[in-house]
Amino acid sequence: MHFQTLESRIVSLFLALILVGQGISFVVLRHGITTNEEAAIHDQLELGVPLFNRLLEQKAQTVTGNARALSKDYGFRQAIASNDQETIESVLVNTQDRIEAALALFIGLDGQIRATTNKKAQGNLVQSILRLLSDAERNDGAVDISIFENRPYQILVVPVRAPITIGYIAMAFPLDRQLAKEMRDLSLLDVSFMVSRPQGGWSADESTLSRENAVGVASQMAGIDGAVAQSLVLQVNHSDYSSRILPLAKNEHQSAVVVLQRSIDEAIAPYRKLQLSLIIITGVVTGIAFLFTFFAARRIAGPLRDLTEVANRLGDGDYQSPVEIKGDGEIRKLSIAFESMRDGIARREREIRRLAYWDPLTDLPNRAQFTVLLIAAIANSAQNNSTCFMLMMDLDRFKNVNDILGHHFGDELLIQLARRLTNTVGDKYPVARLGGDEFAVLMPDVSEATAKEIATRILVALELPMTLEDQNVDLGAGIGIAGYPMHGLEAEALMSRAEVAMYSAKISGNDAVMYDPVLDKASEENLSLLSELRRALERNEFEMHVQPKLSLGTGEFIGFEALVRWLHPEKGMIYPDSFIPFSEETGFIRALTRWMLEQAALLCRDLTARGIHAKISVNISTRDLLDQNLPTLFSALLTSHGISASSFCLEITESSIMDDPKRALATLEKLHATGVELSIDDFGTGYSSLAYLKRLPVDELKIDKSFVMSMESDADDAKIVRSTIDLGHNMGLRVVAEGIETEGAWQLLKKMGCDQGQGYFMSRPIAVNQLEDWIANWIPPNPID
Ligand code: C2E
Ligand code: CA
Ligand code: CA
Repeated sequence: MHFQTLESRIVSLFLALILVGQGISFVVLRHGITTNEEAAIHDQLELGVPLFNRLLEQKAQTVTGNARALSKDYGFRQAIASNDQETIESVLVNTQDRIEAALALFIGLDGQIRATTNKKAQGNLVQSILRLLSDAERNDGAVDISIFENRPYQILVVPVRAPITIGYIAMAFPLDRQLAKEMRDLSLLDVSFMVSRPQGGWSADESTLSRENAVGVASQMAGIDGAVAQSLVLQVNHSDYSSRILPLAKNEHQSAVVVLQRSIDEAIAPYRKLQLSLIIITGVVTGIAFLFTFFAARRIAGPLRDLTEVANRLGDGDYQSPVEIKGDGEIRKLSIAFESMRDGIARREREIRRLAYWDPLTDLPNRAQFTVLLIAAIANSAQNNSTCFMLMMDLDRFKNVNDILGHHFGDELLIQLARRLTNTVGDKYPVARLGGDEFAVLMPDVSEATAKEIATRILVALELPMTLEDQNVDLGAGIGIAGYPMHGLEAEALMSRAEVAMYSAKISGNDAVMYDPVLDKASEENLSLLSELRRALERNEFEMHVQPKLSLGTGEFIGFEALVRWLHPEKGMIYPDSFIPFSEETGFIRALTRWMLEQAALLCRDLTARGIHAKISVNISTRDLLDQNLPTLFSALLTSHGISASSFCLEITESSIMDDPKRALATLEKLHATGVELSIDDFGTGYSSLAYLKRLPVDELKIDKSFVMSMESDADDAKIVRSTIDLGHNMGLRVVAEGIETEGAWQLLKKMGCDQGQGYFMSRPIAVNQLEDWIANWIPPNPID
């Protein structure tokens, strides 16, 4: 239990109170007991004094009775009268023995000892007896105490009367152990007789104490005046005895006292027991109080502590486990408040988590959540020594769907696609929407073959068009696959490698591509190339070159084809073949096309201003055709530059139309509606069906330069060129031949009835500022007959 806790404070406060209370009562009680007992001992000792005196008196009375009986004895009196010394002595001896006296005397009226039981008994004792004679005569008997041979003796004298006094009987008894014992039996006091030594100090006589203890007491009495009664504490065998000293007798040399004692310890012993009981009771009460306060404190502090823990838990971000509602009163209210707070936070947190980790549109995990799953799958594979894969998928043309059919349609499409994907891969493989039209599938614990198989399954599922609002939408996709551990050891690495593979799939036109380090390099180059292209556009590094188109019949200048050049600051002039395909793959071409159209429009206005009327052909790529905005954009351009659509011809390759004929057709129709002329470029290299060609709103066929360039040497190519010219004419189209490098080719084509020509023979593509000079210097070849 820490001392800082509320619980411990309550418990210690209570315990302290109890202990202080118990301590005070203990001290008070102890003090009471001590004073009480001291008073009791004092009383006991005080009572001992008359008791002892009474005992002495009693003894004296008994002996006096005996002596008196003797004094009245006829025979004894006779013996006195006849001075029969022998009889007197024998009677005295008999009496002494009977009453256990120490000495018996008969004293004559003259104060002479006439008979004695002990001839040696002399001095003090006899002197004291003799001093009592007159007293005895007056009071019919006298009693006193005298010291003899270091011992107190009780002495008594009784007159013998017949009827007048004829002598005195005297007797002496030592104050012996018997007396002391009797005294003790009556009073519970220890009794010791002490006699002072003539040389100083005290010697112990008879005592109820052991000899040793009695001597010990005597030794403590040095300096005490035996003539005065006094109270003091003396030690007996190391314990305190309350003691009362009473004077018994005194002569010139010595004094005798009786010491009455009571052991303080002994007297207090029962109270000690009481105190011990009190201590035990205190202990028990304290123990019970401790338990009681402990549990009481727990009842108070427990819920508070629980709530503190809850608060800590909430602080640590654990909002899941509900707060237990306990206690009552304030604590209960507090727990309820805590619970509703926790619940509120938990709900908000769930919502935040949902927003952070779930894609609200498709209800699929988002990129963050997918990363979490991927990390877990990697950890699992690392543990099981297995492989795991992920695939990343990006839809083709989704942006167009959004642009053309609207975002709402796009959203619905994504929802449907998400459903189709999850149904296709099944529960085992989580599908996530990484953003936009990018999806990912996690394939934990699978082999490479399975991963590929799943990718194929998805591609197959995508072949079926989506049906939405009565529209059928075809969605292609590029899929990139990367796996642990062969392609990366961390989630981030796998993600970026799957992405590289995915871009490669989109660029190469393969549906699913497994990551390969080679791709990385390509993708790196591609990425830097793309950013370079973008920069080039910003920095105006592109340049429009033009190649004249001429009428083969009249030889006059008709117009020109606009061809892009990249004037790279380091690499010099870069020809379109090295960046157009890439621009088409990446979609950069759209920006480039717009730029070219813009340049062409500017040039057109410029030439018109100088009185040169020319038709400008601009190349349009597949990507542009899929952009349904192009017609609008094109019209806007014409309006802003104040030029008519008929000044333009847009060249479209056969293959670009065949990529997605339906959509291409829609765009072409819209473009054609603006009044612009359309030309099918590179004709003969694709596999367009004539039936289809017939439906296209085109005005011109451009025979591919590969046939034209070799037609003089290759009879087959010449036939192709001839039949193409015929075919074009039959369909009502103008036919243009490109790649005319020689006058021979010019003449041949002219003979075949080809309408227009373009080629190095007339002019290579030239910078715009050279065009005017070229027109001025142009001399058509002489017609041959
Ligand atoms: P294309 O549309 O077939 O353009 C004609 C290409 O043939 C030009 O190559 C031109 O220089 C070349 N050429 C013309 N006459 C002759 C000839 O007598 N002999 C030979 N050997 N070649 C001749 P260039 O300028 O290198 O362009 C190559 C291709 O790049 C173009 O083929 C076109 O498909 C594309 N391209 C060029 N500029 C653009 C553009 O602005 N937009 C788009 N989308 N594509 C462009
Ligand atoms: Ca062209
Ligand atoms: Ca061409």
